[in-house]
Amino acid sequence: MSLFSTTYDVIVIGGGHAGSEAAAASANMGAHTLLITMNLQNIAQMSCNPAMGGIAKGQIVREIDALGGYSGIVTDKTAIQFKMLNKSKGPAMWSPRAQSDRMMFAECWRTMLEQTENLDFYQDSVNGLLFDGDKIIGVKTALGLEIKSKTVIITAGTFLNGLIHIGDKTFGGGRAGESASTGITEDLVLKGFEAGRMKTGTPPRVDGRSLDYSKMLEQPGDEIPEKFSYLPTTRPLVKQRSCYLTYTNPKVHELLREGFDRSPMFNGRIKSTGPRYCPSVEDKVDRFATKDRHQIFVEPEGWTTVEMYVNGFSTSLPEDIQDKAIRAIEGFENVKFFRYGYAIEYDFFQPTQLKHSLETKLIENLFFAGQINGTTGYEEAASQGLMAGVNAALKTQGKAPFVLKRNEAYIGVLIDDLITKGTDEPYRMFTSRAEYRTLLRQDNADLRLTPLGFELGLASKERMDRVLEKQRKTDLLIKFLEETSVTEAEINPILEAKNLDLINQSLKLFKVAARPQLDFKDFKDLEKLKVFIAENDIDWEVVEQAEIHLKYSGYIEKEKNNADKLNRLENVTIPANFNYQKLQSISFEAREKLTKIQPTSISQASRISGVSPSDISVLLVYMGR
Ligand code: FAD
Repeated sequence: MSLFSTTYDVIVIGGGHAGSEAAAASANMGAHTLLITMNLQNIAQMSCNPAMGGIAKGQIVREIDALGGYSGIVTDKTAIQFKMLNKSKGPAMWSPRAQSDRMMFAECWRTMLEQTENLDFYQDSVNGLLFDGDKIIGVKTALGLEIKSKTVIITAGTFLNGLIHIGDKTFGGGRAGESASTGITEDLVLKGFEAGRMKTGTPPRVDGRSLDYSKMLEQPGDEIPEKFSYLPTTRPLVKQRSCYLTYTNPKVHELLREGFDRSPMFNGRIKSTGPRYCPSVEDKVDRFATKDRHQIFVEPEGWTTVEMYVNGFSTSLPEDIQDKAIRAIEGFENVKFFRYGYAIEYDFFQPTQLKHSLETKLIENLFFAGQINGTTGYEEAASQGLMAGVNAALKTQGKAPFVLKRNEAYIGVLIDDLITKGTDEPYRMFTSRAEYRTLLRQDNADLRLTPLGFELGLASKERMDRVLEKQRKTDLLIKFLEETSVTEAEINPILEAKNLDLINQSLKLFKVAARPQLDFKDFKDLEKLKVFIAENDIDWEVVEQAEIHLKYSGYIEKEKNNADKLNRLENVTIPANFNYQKLQSISFEAREKLTKIQPTSISQASRISGVSPSDISVLLVYMGR
């Protein structure tokens, strides 16, 4: 089939994290998909640090995996270190993070995509969009091809009119060594879209052989590493590579300050907003002037490479300043640079211009996902890509959009935040953004989402069967704990070992096991539990679910009830293009915001900043409630 004569179901522009998940999702749902990207060698390239997951982001990767996306599998297959962050806190905060081998990561993604049916590839740069009135019908490329498609997903990342800054040098580029993308923003603005600028930055990469690790603190991975994917096709790591921790110091700060007058951040050449939570080192020195040191994590870029990523030293200061300042860090005295740090400015589109499906409000069949929507981070991008891929495929099949609610997934929170509130700075996920975080845990993403992914035709039958089995065994174990009594003789040695008050009568096992001071592993020698676990072939994942149920079911039920109450408001829909101007009894600000965002439900309206509870009461009356 020729590119000239085919009309695709879905064209995905850009093979980054969003584009790769989008292409996989739509193709796996049966849509004939074309992935057009500037360089097929750089599929799912990690532009910044070679790590997936982390706080709240790890939960997102688990959700992508549970739905049938690829990011979790690729991360497991290419991981060099795994850590479960926040393990000392409650399970809602546990966040998996893995360092990956950067080169293997891109290669593994490409292999997985090449093995995906219904997916074609083409290397070129899209420099224009084809419209028929207010519908998109295809794309134009730099080589002059016009390729037709029923739907188009734009996932151009940091490439749209990208501008790279290092000290006083500025040049066009989408990432170091890669060209910027022009034409798309311009076509969209002509159609009435509002475009903005954002910026992000990256630290230097250095030669690991030139560092003195004896002056740094070793940061090994977890002793018993876990993994991201719920599928058994990936295995936890047996061998891991360590990272190293060192610090900046007043001398480093002084040397950095010498370059401030040539810094594009401070001399006004960079005008756009960067990620507040991921500041450059010059920003940290400037903003936190009283702090005399900042953490620097030295992270390997892969299994065999000597290249190291200097996490915490993101900078766009001139090369000579980067070079001088970094040498004043303990362990970096004789450092050799592989690449200097840089900052990049790029176009993004206010995500309030999107529907929950990630389809644009202005142009039918056109979807946006990833950094183009004002987010930052691989996980945020990948999850939007998956959702856009699913929804583009559903659109071609004439089916209703797939939308995740805020109480169903971090992905639901992310998209709802973006399209309801918009963003003035690169948006990244945090656990604090999720009001139902006790429900949205990394351990239960499969129970929450695999049934939905299976129904869509995205998650495999194998995934679904595993979820059913996990649920069945969890219920079985909970029932056993609730029905089984233990005697003083069985339990008191366990309590004694933990310096806890002893019991003087037999008790149901769940009552003892629910005590916050005790872990399930404290019961490992309890004979009747041991026998039950062995007889029913119960694994640690099931034990973990049962333990979380015992200890947190009160909180979980409370959150479920709150979510149910709010979801009732979700069901009070507002008609499309509702005329808020006629509602004179709501505030001027609320009228303006509601008109701009056009919420689809009362619940969404209540989350728009500037819309007060009294405005909502008026709306409710108007909607007949
Ligand atoms: P990208 O990963 O950027 O992928 C875009 C893809 O689209 C590329 O393959 C590109 O070749 C292709 N493409 C673009 N335009 C076209 C076109 N017209 N035609 C065909 N193909 C096209 N994230 C963090 O969380 N923390 C950080 O500190 C951080 N720092 C960063 C520093 C730098 C310098 C950069 C570049 C990125 C940084 N990021 C950081 C962001 C992270 O890399 C992105 O959030 C993530 O990669 C976005 O994924 P994406 O799929 O939207 O876009």
